[in-house]
Amino acid sequence: MKQRILTFKAYPCNKAATSFFSFFTNFVRRERNNIYTPKTAMIARKESNTPTWYHVTTYSDLPEELRKLEHIAYNLRFEWQPNVSSLFERIDADLWDDVAHNPVLFLRKLSRERIDAVMEDKILIDRIEQAHESLMDYLNEPVDTSRPSVAYFSMEYGLSNILHIYSGGLGVLAGDYLKEASDSNVPMVAVGLLYRQGYFSQTIDENGRQIASNQKENFYNLPLVKVSAEGGEPLVIPVLMGQNTVYAHVWKVAVGRISLYLLDTDIDLNGEWDRSITAQLYGGDWENRLRQEILLGIGGIKLLRALHIESDVYHMNEGHAAFINIERLAHMVEGGLSFDQALEIVRSSSLYTVHTPVPAGHDYFDEELLSRYMHDYARRMGIEWTDFLDLGKETSGEAGKFSMSHLALNTCIGANGVSRLHGEVSREMFAPMWKGFFPEELHVGHVTNGVHLPTWATEEWYQFFEEHLGKDFLKHQSEETCWGKLETVPNDEIWTLRMQLKQRLYDYIENNPTATQLFNGTDPSFSMKALDQFSPNAMYIGFARRFATYKRAHLLFTDLERLASIMNNPLRPVHFIFAGKAHPADGAGQGLIQHIVEISKRPEFLGKIIFLQDYDLTLAKILIPGVDVWLNTPVRPMEASGTSGMKAQMNGCLNASILDGWWAEGYRKGGGWAINEHPYFSSLEYGPEVRDKLDAAVLYELLEKEIVPMYYMRNEKGCPTEWVNSIKYSMRTISPHFTMRRMIDEYYAKYYEPLAHRTKELVKDNLALTNTLVQWKHHVSDTWSTIECLNLDIAGLGQGNDGRPTGKNIFSKVVLNCGAFNADLITELVVSEISPLTGKLSLVKVYPFREVAREGNIRTYELELTPRNPGRFSIAIRISPWHPALPNRQDFAYVHWLSIDKK
Ligand SMILES: *Cc1c(COP(=O)(O)O)cnc(C)c1O
Repeated sequence: MKQRILTFKAYPCNKAATSFFSFFTNFVRRERNNIYTPKTAMIARKESNTPTWYHVTTYSDLPEELRKLEHIAYNLRFEWQPNVSSLFERIDADLWDDVAHNPVLFLRKLSRERIDAVMEDKILIDRIEQAHESLMDYLNEPVDTSRPSVAYFSMEYGLSNILHIYSGGLGVLAGDYLKEASDSNVPMVAVGLLYRQGYFSQTIDENGRQIASNQKENFYNLPLVKVSAEGGEPLVIPVLMGQNTVYAHVWKVAVGRISLYLLDTDIDLNGEWDRSITAQLYGGDWENRLRQEILLGIGGIKLLRALHIESDVYHMNEGHAAFINIERLAHMVEGGLSFDQALEIVRSSSLYTVHTPVPAGHDYFDEELLSRYMHDYARRMGIEWTDFLDLGKETSGEAGKFSMSHLALNTCIGANGVSRLHGEVSREMFAPMWKGFFPEELHVGHVTNGVHLPTWATEEWYQFFEEHLGKDFLKHQSEETCWGKLETVPNDEIWTLRMQLKQRLYDYIENNPTATQLFNGTDPSFSMKALDQFSPNAMYIGFARRFATYKRAHLLFTDLERLASIMNNPLRPVHFIFAGKAHPADGAGQGLIQHIVEISKRPEFLGKIIFLQDYDLTLAKILIPGVDVWLNTPVRPMEASGTSGMKAQMNGCLNASILDGWWAEGYRKGGGWAINEHPYFSSLEYGPEVRDKLDAAVLYELLEKEIVPMYYMRNEKGCPTEWVNSIKYSMRTISPHFTMRRMIDEYYAKYYEPLAHRTKELVKDNLALTNTLVQWKHHVSDTWSTIECLNLDIAGLGQGNDGRPTGKNIFSKVVLNCGAFNADLITELVVSEISPLTGKLSLVKVYPFREVAREGNIRTYELELTPRNPGRFSIAIRISPWHPALPNRQDFAYVHWLSIDKK
């Protein structure tokens, strides 16, 4: 055989035809002579088995000088330490991009060749040295123990794009918060879940449909360290879930000086079903959601206990984490306290931050489902199952689902919304919890959200701030005086910086075929034509956030003709850039994306309305600073806060937004725009169709008459003077109030300090004050119904002799028989009126009575007042018990309205 082939090959190619002929005749002749006998089967021409792979991981063995990079890679401080990202880029730019800016993976994959080259590069070695030293200095600063310690719980954290444990605003807020806690050097520890697949990545197909894909993470390629128990083996946290115990391992993330612990059930100790608890953020059904929340709450507290971490205050970022208080209560009861004692202490040391403005946005669990999981906790807490259920209800004994926000409110003294307006909305939303009080009187407060300046200001802005506001500007970032120095900065300098950031966005879109959905399946020539239309010189307006319908991404498209005329003026072109994910279960949100993509393909909008895929932290950092205007059009008051506008603000991008969330308090005339200055017409209470049309009309008008003309009004050097003045003005007056520094300081002042102080008071001297309060509450509850109203006089309400109402002065006298009740009482006259705008009863003022006599059980109260304003009011008189150690009236919300014939 071999020889024959060789013979054949020996013939030169140009003689191939004749040679083949002679080969064939030779072959036939030879075969005839040899008397060929064919075998029964053909010879197998291939034979191989499957390989047995043994997995080995080889690490680049870094020389001592480069070991310091490992230290840097394992602390998320690299996300906001200046010059660190550029350092990795300098070492190997291609690899840095290949590993999506993941320094741990970067070091794993760094080639021998690059390592050798770096070792030769004296300047680079010095830079590594400096970066490491700066990190060590940062980490070695002793923590400020004068402030109370805080344990923070959240379902998601948006810290870094390589840690896919966030979905959107809530997570980014929590991530920013930990970074600032680190910068402010407060004693904080944080707990969350480590998801195997994280949140989904988004692509948009040619028809505008969202395609969600989830990828499994290899945790060893991330800046995570598995936490060990004392013996060196992985720490295991057991969590009872119904009949079974689920086990979790714990991973630690170093966020600067703050430790974030993440629970992970995807381990061999668990069966398949239990392993999948931490598969996806906000994935799975309601049962899985419950299991995740049990893991976060119960598991989170057990985890801190295993690490011997005790905090002064426990803060739940959204109601998802409210089960922390179930475990804390159960543990205290097991330790010998009564449930009532434990509840006093747990409530006093807990804060609940709500992020949702409507009850439908909260988590509710079916009683049947809950009872399968939580019965044992009721037993451990020493209470009846019905009492357990009451913890998740508005009023005790009420039917219906168990609400995590009600659980939070029933077990936390502190409760707050995330902007001034959202505080008001939350009081309204939660008012049914405390019947007898007006929403305005509730203890639910607010701390407006902020953003972490070193994360969100681009490096260019960061340097600019250092230069103009001072090297230590971060220390003074929430003071207006610090930002006041911007006034004298030359406009050209700011404009040049702005154009640089815009160019970066333009390049990202132009040079990156996966940036838009344009190349997904469409005719490439169509896509190229679209990108040809996309201009670096147009004005860019950005809109990126979660696609929920209340955010009204569609508002802009109410009148397409008018929109086209705004965008296509050749002297003043305007582009819109959209991005954002819709939750995979939110069909309406996905419909919005599809709608926008369809419109973007019309000839008049082609290449001028751009949809960017897969909105995440990395994209946000390119998109937000790169656009000229940041647009937000929610239905008021559905946007609890919103934070992307604050990020825009800090990068010199002007906001145009409905007066909702943070913008309702952030907006300053001349520093951005309010779409519809009369908030009522943009609100939920107004009919949706008219409201949307009206808001759209106002938006178009703003664009036509103010925003676009101002942007294109240039001086002889091409700089839009008025525009840049507006940037300076908004930075000076708005930015200082929306920093994460201001937010954390406010949490300390309004909540952490008072809660920690009060809790200390409660537990000292063997729980003396706790016991006093518990006894007092028992007394009130036992005797409240024995109070009787003997007399109630209100003078001054009648008509005068001339038939006209008097009402100039009101005099009132109340006589009560307090029966067995012997505690303090507050007796009040409440004045209310019907609001002409909303038709609802609203509070005008509360006037306290004076106690003028007390004889035995009989107490007499009097009040005389001159109403400040004339008008038509309603008045009523209420009593409630009072103890000076109560944190607020709602803590023990007994209220009784008096009437003349009954008590
Ligand atoms: C800031 C941010 C958000 C939140 O934006 P909102 O304006 O609050 O909706 C969502 N996703 C990413 C990636 C962000 O950076």
